[in-house]
Amino acid sequence: MKYYHGIPVSPGVEIGLVSVVANNNFLIRPRAIESTQVASELAKLDSAFESAAETLERRRIDASEQLGEQYGQIFEAHALILRDAKLRAQIEKTISEDRLCSEYAVYQAFDYYAKLLQGLQDALYADRANDVVDVRDQLLRQLLAVNQEVALSSESGKILAANFLNPSDAAKLDPTKTIAIVTETGGLGSHTAIVASALGIPTVLGVGSFISELYEDDLAIVDGSTGLLIINPDQETVQRYQAKKETQERRRRLREALREKVVVKTTDGVEIEVKGNIEFPSEAVKCVENGAAGVGLYRTEFLFLTSPNNSVPDEETHFRAYKSVLETVGFEQSTIIRTFDLGADKTPDDNTFVNVKEPNPFMGLRSIRLSLRHTEMFRSQLRAILRASVYGKVKIMFPLVTTISEWRDARAIFMDVRDDLLDEGVPFDHDVPLGVMVETPATVVMLEQFAPEVDFFSIGTNDLLQYTQAVDRSNENVMSLYQQESPALLRFIRHTVSVSNHYGKPLSLCGQMASMPTCVPLLLGLGLRSLSVSPSMILQTKEICESFSIERCEEIARKAWRFETAADIRAFLRSQLRAVLGSDALE
Ligand code: PEP
Ligand code: MG
Repeated sequence: MKYYHGIPVSPGVEIGLVSVVANNNFLIRPRAIESTQVASELAKLDSAFESAAETLERRRIDASEQLGEQYGQIFEAHALILRDAKLRAQIEKTISEDRLCSEYAVYQAFDYYAKLLQGLQDALYADRANDVVDVRDQLLRQLLAVNQEVALSSESGKILAANFLNPSDAAKLDPTKTIAIVTETGGLGSHTAIVASALGIPTVLGVGSFISELYEDDLAIVDGSTGLLIINPDQETVQRYQAKKETQERRRRLREALREKVVVKTTDGVEIEVKGNIEFPSEAVKCVENGAAGVGLYRTEFLFLTSPNNSVPDEETHFRAYKSVLETVGFEQSTIIRTFDLGADKTPDDNTFVNVKEPNPFMGLRSIRLSLRHTEMFRSQLRAILRASVYGKVKIMFPLVTTISEWRDARAIFMDVRDDLLDEGVPFDHDVPLGVMVETPATVVMLEQFAPEVDFFSIGTNDLLQYTQAVDRSNENVMSLYQQESPALLRFIRHTVSVSNHYGKPLSLCGQMASMPTCVPLLLGLGLRSLSVSPSMILQTKEICESFSIERCEEIARKAWRFETAADIRAFLRSQLRAVLGSDALE
C-alpha cells in the first residue's frame, strides 16, 4: 500500500482499477500482446507513421513559408528518419516476433538509434539524436492517443492515471467510464481541473512522480476531496473509504430536493442566484436539471478545442451550439456567453491559427487579445451569438479585458456586427447586454473607468488569483501560492463588489472559488449575491446558501479579513462550514 498526496481539484471518493496513460516523458513499458493482436498493432503503427508524415509535411510547408526554405529543411530531415526502412523493419519485428506492443517497439528502436548517435560525441550527431527523439515522440503521441481511447472506452469504469492530461482530452472523457482522474502534473486553476469538476469526476492533479510505481489494473483509491491517492490499499483501508463514499452519497441524496428550487434564500431571506458554468452545450441540461438560475459562464473556446482536427468553427457551428444552449435554458433565466478565451492552457496542438508557441503564454496573445487580432473569427462568433439570441435571454461577456481600449474595441466590433445584421434584416435581440470579466489586477484597479460603460461584471478568480499572486494556475510546483483564500484576492473582490454596487451594475463570480463550499459563506459576506459554479456543485452551493444567514456570512468575512495568511483563512472557513452543516460536511 502506497500513499501519495496531490492537489484536490474535484471532490468525491472512488475506488477502482487503474488505467495507465503515459503521455508525457513517455515512460513506456513493454506490454506483451497476443498473436491475434499483431495485425491490429501493425495497423496502428501504419496510421501513426502516416499521420506523423502528414504533420511533418505541414510543418515543413509552414516553416518554409514563414521563415524560409532552410527552416523547412529541418522537417525534411525528420521525414527522412521516418522513412528509414531499417528502423521500420526493426519496429515491426519487435511487434510480430517478440509480440510486444507498438509503442514499446517504437520507443525501443528509436532509443537505440538516439543513443548510438549521442555516443559519437560530436555536436552534429547530437543534433541528429535530438531529431530522432523528436520524431519518436510524435509517433508515441499518436500511438498513446489511440491507447487512451481504448483505455477510456473500457466497459467498466476505471481510474485514469496519466502524467498529464490537457483540457481538450479531459473534455472527451465519459464519467461512466472514467470514474476518477489522477495525474503527475497540473494545478488547481488549470482548465483540466475545471473540466473534471464540470464532469463531476473525482480528481487529484499534481501528485508528482507515481506512474512508474503503477501497473495497469492495480487497485487504487482516489480522494478528490483531500488530494489523496492510495495504490494497492489493504482491505481495512478500502472499507474505510467505502464508508466515506457512502457518507458522501447520503449527503448528495439529501440535496436532491433542492433541484426544484431556482430561487434560493439565506436563512434571513436574502435571495442568492446560483448559476452554472458550462463548457459544452450538453451541460446546459445539467444546469436546468439542478434548478440553476441560468448559465453564468459558457466557455465557448471548448467548441474550438473539441472540434475535429482543431479546425476553426464556422458561423453555423457556433450558431447551432448557442441555439441549443439557449433553447435549453429558455427566456426565464439568462445565459452568459463568453467569447473565445483561447490561448495559455487552452491552445490546441498543431493549430496554425493560434499556435504561436509563446515563451510565456499566460501573459501572451490570449483571450480578448487574440479575438481582437483575429477579427474574422471574432465577428463570426458575435454574428452567431446575435442570431441565436432569439432563442433565449443572452448576455455577452469578454474575457481578460485589461484596458478600457480593449473593451471599447470589442464593443465597436460588436456594434459593427449588429449593424450588418440589421442591414441584412436578420432577426436578433436588440438589447443584448455586454459585460467584462474581472480577471486582472489592472481591471480591478480601473473598475471605476469601466463601470459607467459596461452592462455587467463577472469576477474570474482563477485568473485574478494567478495574476495577483504572480503564480501559474496550472503549475503544481507553486500551488502553495495559488490559494483562493488569498488575503489579497479577498481585497480585490471586496473592491469589485463596492464599485459594482456604486454604479448599480450586476455582478457575479464565476471562478472556481464559488465552487469551493468553504468559500461560499465568505463570498456572500463580501457582498456577492450571484455565484456561478460547476454544474456538479449547483446543489451543494444552494444547500450552503440556504443554511447560512447573511449576518453570519458578514461576520465570517469580517473575521477572515483580519487573518494574515490564506492558510489561516482556510482553516477558519472549514470550521465555519462544519459548525453549520455538521462534522461530515467536508467529507
Ligand atoms: C476565471 O479565470 O476565473 C474564469 C472563470 O475563466 P477561466 O477559468 O476559463 O479562465
Ligand atoms: Mg479566466
